[in-house]
Formats: sequence, structure tokens, C-alpha cells
Amino acid sequence: MNKRYIYLLALIVFFTISTRLFTQTPEIQVKFIGNCGVHLTDGKNNLYVDFPYKSGAFNYMTYNPAELDSIPDNAYFLFTHKHPDHYSKKMLNQIKSKHKGNVFGKWNINEFTKFNTTFTDFTIETFETKHHFSFKHYSYLITWHGKKIYFSGDTESAVTIANVEQIDWAFIPTWIWTDAKENNLQINANMFAIYHLYPDQSVTNSMPEKIKLLNKQGERWSL
Ligand SMILES: [Zn+2]
Repeated sequence: MNKRYIYLLALIVFFTISTRLFTQTPEIQVKFIGNCGVHLTDGKNNLYVDFPYKSGAFNYMTYNPAELDSIPDNAYFLFTHKHPDHYSKKMLNQIKSKHKGNVFGKWNINEFTKFNTTFTDFTIETFETKHHFSFKHYSYLITWHGKKIYFSGDTESAVTIANVEQIDWAFIPTWIWTDAKENNLQINANMFAIYHLYPDQSVTNSMPEKIKLLNKQGERWSL
């Protein structure tokens, strides 16, 4: 093989690899922490949903305190509501003093519009939903690298999620699944992640190709 040929071959390989690198949509990695607490990242931004919460609140899952230590600087924190199995002000304050970060929830719901116009990496659509014993509750639709990810939170009714089109991943508790069935509502999602399970709760997964049960803390997968 002469030198010029080898050079040309190397050049072709280089361009093939670099175009593949630049055209690929970044993957979103998810880690299940516990209860409704998840961490999503595309390697650039870090988004936590319903985390940090009070470990073991209402007998829901406890989690390793190392989860709190691994939170990076300037992460985004999104909360459906303030019940202790979803939210901990004490831990959030500690994290903010060490790592800064942006916190979103019902208290600054009006800032989402501004956030969505100034921040271009992902958008957050808010849905006011009802939850017994909670003053205000929100469900969220995140659009990130072309993926639509819905977080239902604790709301008891499937009406809101049934009106959202083409969800890629729907994070819902078991009761939303039941409510949708009972009321003949269709949830338009490719995949379901079932969260808010008790540590020892046994749920049978009848469709593992469509449903992921979040009962293995620390489990990671990509969307
Ligand atoms: Zn809850």
C-alpha cells in the first residue's frame, strides 16, 4: 500500500468518525435514586426531579446519603410538590450553599416562561394538577434533545396526561395507570416508568417491553 493511499484512507476514516460524532443526538442518561427522585443528564446539564426528598418519608424508599454528595454544581431541581417524600428544604439549602443550582416548583411557576425562552437546552411545560392534601401540585413535560419526558408526580387523575401527545417516557405512579384504565383514558406514551413504589411493594410487570418498574435504586438507563 503506498503512502498516499494510506493517507487518503486515514482522511476518509477521520471524516466518517467526525461527522458521526457531530450529527448524533446526545443521549439522556437517567438514574433512579428512590421514590420519585430521578437524575437526568446529557453530560452537559443535570436535572433532578423530586430530589432531594426526606429519605424514608412515609415509609417510602430510603437512599444512600452519597447520592447527595454526588450532586454536581449548577444542577436544575424540579419539584411536583412539597410533601417530604418528594422534597426536602433542609437538604436543598445545603446543596445550594455548596453547589448553587436552580430550583423550580409551584413557588416560582411564573418563571418557567422566562426560563423556556432564555434557556435553550431543554424546555419545561407545566401542568397544574390536583393532589389530595396538597395545596398546589404540578406535573411537567420536559422536552430535551427531541425527547418528551413527562413527570406525573402524585396527582390522582390521569385526565391531564391523557391530553398530552406523543410522550416518549411517562413517569407515573401505579394509580395513574389504574385511573386511566377505569376511566377509559388513553395515555399516549412509548414507554412507562412506574415510580412511587414502597421498598418491598410487589408489582407484576405484564409488559416489560413497554413498562419499567422503578424498584431498583441506582439503576441507570438511557432514553
Ligand atoms: Zn408522594
